[in-house]
Amino acid sequence: MERVEIRTKESTELIDITREVKGIISSKRVDSGVCVVFTKHTTAGTIINENEAGLKNDILKLLNELIPKGKGYLHDRIDNNAHSHLRAVVLGSSVTIPIENCALALGTWQSIMFVECDGPRRREVCVAVIEG
Ligand code: ZN
Repeated sequence: MERVEIRTKESTELIDITREVKGIISSKRVDSGVCVVFTKHTTAGTIINENEAGLKNDILKLLNELIPKGKGYLHDRIDNNAHSHLRAVVLGSSVTIPIENCALALGTWQSIMFVECDGPRRREVCVAVIEG
């Protein structure tokens, strides 16, 4: 398993990690298999979507509207970041991408993005490869 280190700058932020994951996959020389991109954090997520500036803002706005900060969440009594955890729940912690001919089989407009929900922080994403 490999790791990608990320330093986030905002409280909520989308960070494209496609290039880093592609670099790991090409170094593995796995002809066919599956790549799992996973974050161990409880206030961050991993998604696949289009890396377009307007859409990235739309996604952040959606998270804000769906799960606003400070809505009387119980976890806020001890940590004041319940909205960050809840956003991470909705996003999910991992994505799975097929590997074909030693490369990620991503669609033309698909990018792998780390979603910070409680930044800024130092974060880590695990990249595991299963051959088969
Ligand atoms: Zn918390």
